[in-house]
Amino acid sequence: TAPTRPQAWFDGALCDIDALQAGLTTHAMHYGSGVFEGIRSYATAGGAAVFRLPEHMARMREGAALLGMHFDPAQATEAVLTTLRANGHRDAYIRPLAWFGEGGFGLDVEGHTEHLMVATTATQVHLGGSRARLGISKWRRNPADSLPPLKLCGAYVNSILAKRESKSRGFDEALFTDAAGFVVECTGANVFIVKAGRVTAVQHRDALPGITRDTLLTLSGAESRAVTVEELYDADEVFACGTAAEVAPVHGVEDRSYGDNPITRELAALYARVVRGEAEHQRGWLTAV
Ligand code: PMP
Repeated sequence: TAPTRPQAWFDGALCDIDALQAGLTTHAMHYGSGVFEGIRSYATAGGAAVFRLPEHMARMREGAALLGMHFDPAQATEAVLTTLRANGHRDAYIRPLAWFGEGGFGLDVEGHTEHLMVATTATQVHLGGSRARLGISKWRRNPADSLPPLKLCGAYVNSILAKRESKSRGFDEALFTDAAGFVVECTGANVFIVKAGRVTAVQHRDALPGITRDTLLTLSGAESRAVTVEELYDADEVFACGTAAEVAPVHGVEDRSYGDNPITRELAALYARVVRGEAEHQRGWLTAV
């Protein structure tokens, strides 16, 4: 049963989420010095379960290490499960965030306070995904040799600019491509193409190594390789995937429209069963709440 007031984890304890505040000199607010994750839990026959929680924690630890932040995956795991239980959530989106707080306006993070929060919000039951139209971003993706593809807070300004630009041209979402004509990823999702029944995961060094992408590679036996924009236009189907997006069929890219996306819809249905523990295999991907 859900509490009357939504709870969040903050630095070792549950609190009313409305009661929490961060100071105006919070380092992460000024410089983006934080790292987060986007995770989901699902209602399964055995109760609520989190999908691929250790993998999300490992990626968060990598980002924290890069920032020189202390991060204990076991503690963060407990924080996630405790928050879900407190809110009584089953189908939920889970947002852990670790960040630098007080300690002055300098760029050195040493000596700044470190914080961890976890918020959870109920999500809608899977609806098979909307059919998004993608605009090719005028902005390039953060190059990996300037900003590694991890979930660092500041890195997402790049996604915000791309999304704004694509939406201003009437699209739903942006697709990053590189200067050499290769597909990178969307603002918060990885990309796959389907051609003549063959499923291909777009591989690019500037793209986040998505956990959903990895899941779909395992489930479909798809190949993973670099994909050009011409190949994308020439594909029979295109889809985006991510923890929040799940498997989302793409309706079109710029002027190019795709059809019915039958293979995408099959994969989306399979993914929906796997995350709910309804598939034969891969139950090891679920952490019981
Ligand atoms: N790319 C970016 C930029 C993202 O923010 C996300 C969402 N985490 C993804 C891809 C998909 O990753 P995942 O499947 O691990 O959620």
